Amino acid sequence: MLTVVAGVNWGDEGKGRMVDLLASRHDIVVRYQGGNNAGHTIVNDRGKIVLNLLPSGVFHEGVVNVMGQGMVIDPTHLAREIAGLAERGVVLTPKRLVVSDRAALCLPWHVRQDILEEERLGDARFGSTRRGIGPAYADRHIKKCLRTADLRLAPDALRHKVAALAEWKDLTLAGGYQDTPIDPDAVSDGLLAAARTLAPFIADAGAYLDRAADAGKNVLFEAQLGALRDVDCGIYPYTTSSCTLAAYAPIGAGVPAHRPDKVIGVVKAYSSCVGAGPFTAEMFGAEGDRLREAGAEYGAATGRPRRVGPFDIPASRHGVRLQGATELALTKLDVLSYMERIPVCVAYEIDGRRIHDFPAGEALEGARPVIEYVDGLGGDLSACRHRADLPAGARAYIRNIEKALNCPVRYLSVGPARHDYIDLRRE
Ligand code: GDP
Repeated sequence: MLTVVAGVNWGDEGKGRMVDLLASRHDIVVRYQGGNNAGHTIVNDRGKIVLNLLPSGVFHEGVVNVMGQGMVIDPTHLAREIAGLAERGVVLTPKRLVVSDRAALCLPWHVRQDILEEERLGDARFGSTRRGIGPAYADRHIKKCLRTADLRLAPDALRHKVAALAEWKDLTLAGGYQDTPIDPDAVSDGLLAAARTLAPFIADAGAYLDRAADAGKNVLFEAQLGALRDVDCGIYPYTTSSCTLAAYAPIGAGVPAHRPDKVIGVVKAYSSCVGAGPFTAEMFGAEGDRLREAGAEYGAATGRPRRVGPFDIPASRHGVRLQGATELALTKLDVLSYMERIPVCVAYEIDGRRIHDFPAGEALEGARPVIEYVDGLGGDLSACRHRADLPAGARAYIRNIEKALNCPVRYLSVGPARHDYIDLRRE
């Protein structure tokens, strides 16, 4: 059984928390796109841990974690993340972590380019996480990247490759941006140091997953960010640089001939969005501050305050359609307990016309939210563990979402810890 856990909104929906919960029922957890711009927050018996690159199944002893070819991997960051987990008692071995030999490497010059470009843009900057992800994906597509397999090269061969690429990259960095020229030896030294940790994990992940899928293993694919950040279908150009959709999971994992059996769309009970770009239903002032505080909406990777807003039906319906979600995990409903009446964005208004579909490009920039209010949840949800524990307001809120998105809510998350949830189908 192949299951994808993917975001319906702008990211930060709580996918890491859902994967951590579901991982124990799976043999393998795979990340298939993105890089260390991700920040999946997991709260379990080891405390609160943010994972940037590693799949969210690393805390389950019996689970194999795979990093797919669709990712861009900063090797120094990954080596540090593995060492950080070891300090907390989670020791990963090649039996528990497989890193695809075909993933592109995110290098220090990608990070530098990301920073230089944001600085050049000044007030018009995108709000990049400045971790080099966009430049690394761009170079991957024009075939000017190192890949994970290169970490197994002999040191001289690696140095040779790095020097050749650095010469090309400096046409942009030193030439175009007038930055200090790259020191290829320093880059190679960093790669060789990381390679000492990573080399044992690097393997043909696609072949491994093909065999596992054919053997009937339960595989969980974990996406980074949400549908609205997909490079093609999202709020371009305020998207990420990779495909965040469930349909990409088999390709990014290296098993393109397999098709997911189930897609769990993770959707938050309200909206949040990091960085620049259109965010139609954004709440401002005290109302926004209150929701941001209640939901602790600060970036897991960067600490940046997130923009917040009410649940957005046109955007979420678009997200459910793009993900092909077969069921939903509704997260952070507990956060809305303080509201007596809950605002919901039911449509957009563009040039005086009501729009129910999610528009592309310039049209989105001019959209205004149509807000309606529904009853409050009717109490604190954090201790609810069964459907019958939920107050009537909460049940009505869930029903509204199911109706608006035309998809059943299977999981309801009412807190950050692993067992703070209700499986509504099991009841
Ligand atoms: P991801 O990138 O989609 O995994 O999401 P993030 O980790 O960036 O953000 C989700 C945040 O919300 C994390 O801090 C989680 O611990 C927290 N969280 C997840 N589900 C719930 C929930 O149901 N209620 C509350 N209060 N917090 C939650």
